[in-house]
Amino acid sequence: MSFSAEQFKKQFPLFAQEENAGLVYLDNAATTQKPLSVINAMRDYYIHSSANTHRSSHRLARRSTEMVEQVRNETKQFVNAVSAKEIIFCRGATEALNLLAHCLCSELQPGDEIVISTAEHHANIVPWQMMAKRHNLILRYVPHSAGIPQFDRLGEVLNDRTRVVSLTGGSNSIGLRPDLSLIRKLLRPWQLIWIVDGAQLAAHEEIDVQKIGCDFFVCSAHKFYGPSGIGFLYGRETLLESMPPWHGGGEMIAEVEFQQSHYAELPHKFEAGTSPLAAIAGLGASLDFLSRQDRTAMAEHEQRLTHWLHRELNASPNFRLISQASHNLGIISFVPVEGSATDLMHWLDERDIAVRVGHHCAQILGRTSGNQVTVRASIAAYNTDDDIRAFLQALEDYCEVQQLATSGVEVHSKSW
Ligand code: PMP
Repeated sequence: MSFSAEQFKKQFPLFAQEENAGLVYLDNAATTQKPLSVINAMRDYYIHSSANTHRSSHRLARRSTEMVEQVRNETKQFVNAVSAKEIIFCRGATEALNLLAHCLCSELQPGDEIVISTAEHHANIVPWQMMAKRHNLILRYVPHSAGIPQFDRLGEVLNDRTRVVSLTGGSNSIGLRPDLSLIRKLLRPWQLIWIVDGAQLAAHEEIDVQKIGCDFFVCSAHKFYGPSGIGFLYGRETLLESMPPWHGGGEMIAEVEFQQSHYAELPHKFEAGTSPLAAIAGLGASLDFLSRQDRTAMAEHEQRLTHWLHRELNASPNFRLISQASHNLGIISFVPVEGSATDLMHWLDERDIAVRVGHHCAQILGRTSGNQVTVRASIAAYNTDDDIRAFLQALEDYCEVQQLATSGVEVHSKSW
């Protein structure tokens, strides 16, 4: 198999709409667009099999239940879990991390320690802060250099009170992709729980939780061409078994008595209430969609565009590049030397180029690195060479206008 971004893009109806004819979508770290197969799976679910699961035994209820368990099985294969019981459906990475923070921390002793890093998304900071406060736990950060975590120094913050290490599998702010095999090696001597925030990983590389060696892995489908409102938590079965449930309600119980309840078996113990069933159907379609791609060729294409953008921005005196090209998940963060990042974002938006500006839900990284507001362009496999050329040209035009406005400054212009 090989990969053509142009052919791949044709599967995404949003780009075929007349109003989006000139759209250059570079906000993929926030969310990806959806292929027709995912949209159809959700539509088909409502048209053909809409019914609540597990509760009743009529034909549609059975079909709905089978669909959910089939997608669970596909998700198990997607991450190479040992058992489908290790897959818990949830709203996304944020909910999965809140579940983990709540369930794990409630079992800890005051003074126990949790390790995170400066490159975490707020979803992997705030839940730990909340639980640390509630249970008198200590929150530590991997040593960093100007905000960039030095994962090779992880051992410096580990001790016999460390219970949980929850680290990014890829930073949404600067694209940094830590060496997970190094982290595994450094954690090996310690008895602790390792969580990988994989929200940014799954769109760009195949996931193998057994190879990674983590205890938990969290993910959101909308980051890998699936619908929003659905994601999953992978957890080792023995750990999930030993954890208390989180949300209480229907579906997660075996029996309810006056004063107490007995909980359902895994995975239902952690899935209280009615799941977003159409979204689960869409998740299944997105896994199927990805399984039909040549993931290696797809990743090579994304990496080529990422390196191209890094090279050009690095060579330009008009921009200060913040992300690095190596070990990067297709995220290019930078600031203009003249003018503001926000003005630049509006300039790009007027030319129908979608990028993001701000702290990217990573204020600690922004503050410690001295780059609180950056422009972020993030690549998906449907981005074409034409997208990159249009983006670079718009950046160039912006700089010319800025430099003319502040006149007297030499115009550094270049054809991309
Ligand atoms: N972690 C990372 C690295 C992310 O990029 C995101 C989404 N930007 C999240 C967690 C949270 O994901 P969600 O909003 O889908 O729950």
